[in-house]
Amino acid sequence: MSAARHRRRRAWLERASEALGLIPELGPGDAALEPLVEPGEPLLKFPPEAQWDDWSEYDSQAWPRRQLRQRMLVPTTCFNCESACGLLAYVDKETGQVQRFEGNPRHPASRGRTCAKGPATINQIHDPDRILFPLKRKGARGEGGWERIGWEQALAEIGGRIGRALTEGRRNEVVYHVGRPGHEGYMDRVLRAWGVDGHNSHTNVCSGAARFGYALWQKYDRPSPDYSHAKFILLISAHLESGHYFNPHAQRIVEGMLAGAELAVLDPRLSNTASRATYWLPTQPGSEAAVLLAMAKILLDEGLVDRRFVERWVNWRDYLRRSTSATAAGAGPAAEPRFDDFLARLAADYAEFTPEFAAAESGVPASQIVAVARRIGAAGSAFACHTWRAAGSGNLGGWAVARAMQLLTVLTGSLGTRGGTSPSGWNKFVPDLPLNPPAQKLWNELHFPREWPLCHYEMSFVLPHLLREGRGRLDTYFTRVFNPVWTYPDGFAWIEMLTDESKVGCHVALTPTWNETAFFADYVLPMGHGSERHDLNSYETHDALWIAFRQPVLREALRRQGKTVERTWQANPGEVWEEDEFWIDLSWRIDPDGALGVRKHFESPSRPGQPLSVDEYYGHIFERVPGLPEAAAQERLSPLGYMRRYGAFEVKSSCLLQHEDALAPEAAARGAADAEGRWLTPQGAVLGVVQDGVPRKGFPTPSGRLELDSGTMRDWGWPEYSRPVYVRSHVHPSRLDRARGEFVLLPTFRLPNLIHSRSGNAKWLAEISHRNPVWVNREDAARLGLATDDLVRVETEIGHFVDKVWVTEAVKPGVVCCSHHIGRWRRSQDPRANRWAVNTVRLARNGSVWTMSTVAGIEPGDNADPDTRRIWWRDGGVHQNITHAVHPDPVSGMHCWHQKVRVVKAGPDDRYGDVAVDMARSQQVFREWRALTRPDAGPPNLRRPLWFNRPLRPADEAYRRTV
Ligand code: SF4
Repeated sequence: MSAARHRRRRAWLERASEALGLIPELGPGDAALEPLVEPGEPLLKFPPEAQWDDWSEYDSQAWPRRQLRQRMLVPTTCFNCESACGLLAYVDKETGQVQRFEGNPRHPASRGRTCAKGPATINQIHDPDRILFPLKRKGARGEGGWERIGWEQALAEIGGRIGRALTEGRRNEVVYHVGRPGHEGYMDRVLRAWGVDGHNSHTNVCSGAARFGYALWQKYDRPSPDYSHAKFILLISAHLESGHYFNPHAQRIVEGMLAGAELAVLDPRLSNTASRATYWLPTQPGSEAAVLLAMAKILLDEGLVDRRFVERWVNWRDYLRRSTSATAAGAGPAAEPRFDDFLARLAADYAEFTPEFAAAESGVPASQIVAVARRIGAAGSAFACHTWRAAGSGNLGGWAVARAMQLLTVLTGSLGTRGGTSPSGWNKFVPDLPLNPPAQKLWNELHFPREWPLCHYEMSFVLPHLLREGRGRLDTYFTRVFNPVWTYPDGFAWIEMLTDESKVGCHVALTPTWNETAFFADYVLPMGHGSERHDLNSYETHDALWIAFRQPVLREALRRQGKTVERTWQANPGEVWEEDEFWIDLSWRIDPDGALGVRKHFESPSRPGQPLSVDEYYGHIFERVPGLPEAAAQERLSPLGYMRRYGAFEVKSSCLLQHEDALAPEAAARGAADAEGRWLTPQGAVLGVVQDGVPRKGFPTPSGRLELDSGTMRDWGWPEYSRPVYVRSHVHPSRLDRARGEFVLLPTFRLPNLIHSRSGNAKWLAEISHRNPVWVNREDAARLGLATDDLVRVETEIGHFVDKVWVTEAVKPGVVCCSHHIGRWRRSQDPRANRWAVNTVRLARNGSVWTMSTVAGIEPGDNADPDTRRIWWRDGGVHQNITHAVHPDPVSGMHCWHQKVRVVKAGPDDRYGDVAVDMARSQQVFREWRALTRPDAGPPNLRRPLWFNRPLRPADEAYRRTV
């Protein structure tokens, strides 16, 4: 069909308007496009892959002229949350710039879709205020002075410091603290090569508690629901709109619902997720485990249990044997355990969790709890559920929520089934890394302190408190896409830590954009957004196993044009770099002659004496991905070439029921069965479990089965928590005095279009959401005499913040909410950046009390982006997290985010955005929570249970304490 046939005929009105000069000339333009489909055929959703190298489209900016542009479509992955959805960068061939981002249809998890944050990457990379060059501070740390330096200077100075620390035996003083990881194993490899136990992460302000609850059952510490095929879905939190793996999960939840699944949501807030639910259960914060255990009781009482699954795969014999009241049920400790006795014992143990009890704790009607439990039972093996942050991260004992939720999965036999919930590890690819160093033999007590021997992830949020007590020092401290001054509780403690050079010798902030923590750095090193860096991604988004490749798209576009780029910063805007190459080059500066044994892990295998290249690194990995070399060969590509072209690869299309897999012959040959049916090596390591006479994989736990009874909890001092339990939260209603104006503050909920602290330079996102009022229920507002937009003072344990009120029915009475995404700030001496979202504030300290007051809200300004002059909003919200004390859970170590607060009308001296915090009180609250721990209850001289995973796992010998 000729292009001419598709030229649009202009209406007479258009022709007349053109002639009169009322509108610009509409055409014919410089060319016309061939149609992609014939009239009547289905429209294409994406440009055909065959045209990705040379794609013609009209320039939207040239309208009303029809001006054709030639684009090259280069895949990468989004870096704006943990999901790593596939993006296609439309690179303009004439300007060499990225014109926009859309979804990559080849990506198995996101399937061509994105949320608002994916396409907004274009805002971030074109932000005129972004950090484009390496900077070094001028003047005192935190004073606000900066000078531009080159990468070579930064590498030499930082590498020299680290080299000296390693040489002088101060290896635990070198620390890498990560906010958004976004890669698979890269940093573990780097830190192991350096021989440091230097990994710190944000997990214990995020998902550490839920992970702990899952890990007690099965070692794998996350759920992987198969929503698409579920008959019933249970979510704790606003998972559909803002959850972990947000877009991949959301589209599959909707897919499941369109196929008939029902959705139940536990959330004190009427989120957009709850508004889509079949059943919304507005639970009292912290009561979730009580509700879940009541549902478990209904499954037990009404015979809705998958007996075969539980009998085969749960350590019920241990449960029965260790149950203190087993004798009363007729099965004494010496008797051969019988499954029916176990079920009777279990039902008896949970007898107290009646629907009425759960209703009293949660405020949800008992009939609703019963109805949901029955629907779960009816769904059976097609019951999918998920909890992650929310209740788990909010409450003392929040880990018990995930443990109770997993009990429902176990009782219904929906673990690892189609429509059920798999362990995370089954859907996550583990790469084979090149030149991989051995595990370090050190243990860093600043990250894994002895007071929390069960903590599953680093106790990162108490780092300033530990340093304040003189328990260590950091020589070189990297913060990487990480902003604890703003995102963490107790941010003033971080400011104090970072400005004290006796505690932190050198702070290096690796960041794509200015943030509150980078203001207190010695070096600010610009690192790329999702289209400016390399990373390997693989996440448990659904029933499959996939990998995706984040790549610097301009570098890849130049490569396709036959141009060689030595380092990614030469292709990116300014000198924005990427961590992969930075760590390689830094490692060479740490160990220039190879004497420390570091450099050999970063040398090219094919070019002696040269640094490892990213092509060699990823080429090694991709050549070892099952099926990828064959798929690539079919297209006459190398595995790396395939990933550069398509950006993603599905390794397996389904991964269910792996616990039933027979052990591989070589593993089976290494073991033998014990009396419990475990398949053990001669050294006692569990390889699997015998079922039907066959040694099968089972689960990587001490029993080889799902641990309903946790011997670990008994051995480490928490016998009362050895089975799924309900722990009353620190914000339980019995601990609140409503007459005094006390509320539970929920400070954790996400806004779907914002990133923790990286959306400040995404204008589209900030325009949608830029204020965080306190949600107050209508009843409470009437009692307190509050109306929308009134000012309130929200008093925490250590200070207060002043915010506006939003009166609403969308939150339970007695509970107030405030989104944590908003309230970004800079001081007047700090660089002008993130202008879409940042207030200008004044910080002051008087004795032990810090204050923050807003000097100016968001304002229009002048820079290269004309939209900056069009900023119409002035309200940048309030920084609430900085007024929260740290609440380390005594078992999991997770920060318990919910706050007991007093909400009162603002006084005459209170101003919107005011913050005050007493640091003496902050340290006191830390100590009060630490006093809840049982540090010496575990086996002597063992730091942690050996079977537990931990980030950057050291050699087993490091788990043993020598002093
Ligand atoms: S869910 Fe949104 S922010 Fe997260 S990776 Fe996908 S597109 Fe990016």
